[in-house]
Amino acid sequence: MRKITVIGTGYVGLVSGTCFAEVGNRVICCDVDQRKIDLLNDGIIPIYEPGLEEMALRNKSEGRLLFTTEVGEAIEASDIVYIAVGTPMSETGEADMRYVMSAAKKIGEHLNGHKIIVNKSTVPVGTGELVREVVQANKKYPWTSFDVVSNPEFLREGTALSDCMNMDRAIVGSDNPEAAEQIAQLHAPFNTRIFKTDLESAEMIKYAANTFLATKISFINAIANICEKVGADVEDVAKGMGMDSRIGEKFLQAGIGYGGSCFPKDTYALAHIADKSGYDFELLKSVIKTNQRQRFVVMDKLRETLGGLAGKQIAVLGLAFKPNTDDMREAPSLTIIPELLKQGALVRAFDPIAAEAARRMLPADIAYMDSAELATAGCDACVILTEWNEVLTMDLAKVRDRMKQPIIIDGRNSFDPKAMEEQGFVYHSVGRRPVN
Ligand code: NAD
Repeated sequence: MRKITVIGTGYVGLVSGTCFAEVGNRVICCDVDQRKIDLLNDGIIPIYEPGLEEMALRNKSEGRLLFTTEVGEAIEASDIVYIAVGTPMSETGEADMRYVMSAAKKIGEHLNGHKIIVNKSTVPVGTGELVREVVQANKKYPWTSFDVVSNPEFLREGTALSDCMNMDRAIVGSDNPEAAEQIAQLHAPFNTRIFKTDLESAEMIKYAANTFLATKISFINAIANICEKVGADVEDVAKGMGMDSRIGEKFLQAGIGYGGSCFPKDTYALAHIADKSGYDFELLKSVIKTNQRQRFVVMDKLRETLGGLAGKQIAVLGLAFKPNTDDMREAPSLTIIPELLKQGALVRAFDPIAAEAARRMLPADIAYMDSAELATAGCDACVILTEWNEVLTMDLAKVRDRMKQPIIIDGRNSFDPKAMEEQGFVYHSVGRRPVN
């Protein structure tokens, strides 16, 4: 049993803290957000992540998982201190490092023995060294020592718990082989591949992996846009491409582009890191631009099909950036809905989980409905932005009969075009061959 503190109890900190507890460690998850910690201590999980509630509450009740705002005390009571605070995008596109730096300062102030400081947040190359300097500069007791390790997180929201428990790989970056081995050992119960490297390379692996995946998405979206013009079908193209094991079939689903709390900010951050290092990462800048433009593909289709949006009732199905999460950060709906309103449309929205979070981030004049069938009733058109199961299984006959016009613009290619047309819908998706 190891004594671990995780600083930052968000999507990453709470999930990884819970998983470390699940495999037998004593974990203290701490956060500066009093409301979040109070909820957790009351047995309420502040985020939506399938399976998390049961596992977190069980470990809490068995005494392996604790929650506190007393960050200093938590650090003092642990041998391994994970930093899992946010690194959001700043106005210039860089990663905002103030939370990481404040966590590092706190660790220095409460260093009461040897500790391994592990960075799980996604951070620019060089942050490990910076953390080392800040901890050193704030050390209360000169005799204390520490190591810095980079162990970036790869979980995906919506499947975070199983991503963590059945980890695909663990990247462990450190200049001290002993510290690296201890963090590698910590991952032994997850039965995962461990790759040890230096600090800088570990930090770079995370950005390189995320921006590569973003590139795959923008690439297939660009191909989808061309497919529409030349009469090809992007799904067949992606299938044929994916059969090549060098390419692989994953991340080749065309749609409205990537969103969420990672890809947008990490692509901007790496472009910024590259600029700063003197390399103009033109490829990545195009990936970002392609993704921004892709949002408007559904808007264009909607406007063309309806001949203008002023006064039109539009149902928006799905608000979260992807299914099975309540995370609204950089969700396409945050761009598309304000644009619909700007062009004079009236919006009725449905999301089974993220509606409450969406309310806090979207303009007030939106009607939130309790089901896809209710949201679409009386509408001139419907736009699908998130392929929630509740959307995929909606009662299509009911939807068709109750809509003013049975028009569906599907930004996620959720339905079979032929079947939709046979059901009587005017159905447009992204990059797929028209039925006739
Ligand atoms: P989050 O915003 O959900 O959580 C961050 C938490 O840190 C917040 O609760 C905040 O109150 C807390 N915090 C900030 N400063 C603090 C401090 N000084 N002391 C204690 N707590 C503090 O963020 P997240 O989505 O969990 O992401 C965390 C990091 O992991 C980011 O760098 C992100 O890029 C990376 N990451 C995220 C995901 C994901 O899917 N969310 C996946 C992989 C990596």
